Amino acid sequence: MTSLSGKVAIVTGAASGIGLAIAQDLAAQGVKVTLSDVDVERGKAATSELAGARFQAADMSSAQDVQALVESTRQAEGPVDILVNNAGIQHVAPIVEFPEEKWRQIIEIMLTAPFLLTQAVLPDMYERRWGRIINIASVHSVRASAFKSAYVTAKHGLLGLTRVTALEAAEYGVTCNAICPSYVRTPLVEKQIASQAKVHGIPESEVVEKIMVTEGAIKRLLEPAEVAQLATFLCSDAASAITGSAQMIDCGWTAH
Ligand code: NAD
Repeated sequence: MTSLSGKVAIVTGAASGIGLAIAQDLAAQGVKVTLSDVDVERGKAATSELAGARFQAADMSSAQDVQALVESTRQAEGPVDILVNNAGIQHVAPIVEFPEEKWRQIIEIMLTAPFLLTQAVLPDMYERRWGRIINIASVHSVRASAFKSAYVTAKHGLLGLTRVTALEAAEYGVTCNAICPSYVRTPLVEKQIASQAKVHGIPESEVVEKIMVTEGAIKRLLEPAEVAQLATFLCSDAASAITGSAQMIDCGWTAH
């Protein structure tokens, strides 16, 4: 793999789970990573353990924070080479009861912020003729689940954004890809496991076994590091011909 050392990256939602694992993996390659999160305490703690990393608090539902994130990174480290759109939340409710406010928040964090960040980093990438944009999508970018209307819609939309970005950016040496994981063992999923266990009155281990891994050919949750390694590969020059793709890392879920 050609070295990524010295490249400048932004990872959103990097205080926890998949975002943190990606920040760790990129930092281990010598990338200068700006970890960004709305959770300042956890974000700062995570950043303090990574060589060459900095933390920038930013709420992805605020267009101002999104702009400030790119500007401050540019000033501190230089133009952004790698953007990882990862921040995300979940809300589970039937459409008839789904709060409009939650719908708007999910679309803003998981679809509008990736658009605005992409818009903000592309001019420098175009000028420098190199860039990598990784959108953390989901199996829910190509499959639906009941009661997750905003999440599924945002993730389907993120795949559309990925493809359009790939088409527009290709001539400038910039690639854009989506990573589509099945369930990954992160705090977001731990919360879902706990709430499902309550709803169904079953132990948490049964939620994993009987609800979460049933669709996959490989019957297990993913680990955040597995997703991170794929992200790092997509950033490398070895992946320079991969763009506009939906990289399924889903234990065979969508092979059905
Ligand atoms: P997580 O909850 O562990 O981490 C998400 C991070 O995003 C947290 O640190 C949180 O503070 C941050 N965040 C939340 N709202 C934010 C906001 N408004 N602004 C900035 N940061 C914010 O979740 P995770 O499981 O690591 O999920 C990361 C991404 O991966 C999400 O986009 C999620 O949809 C996607 N994903 C997760 C799974 C899974 O099974 N865990 C599967 C497929 C896709």
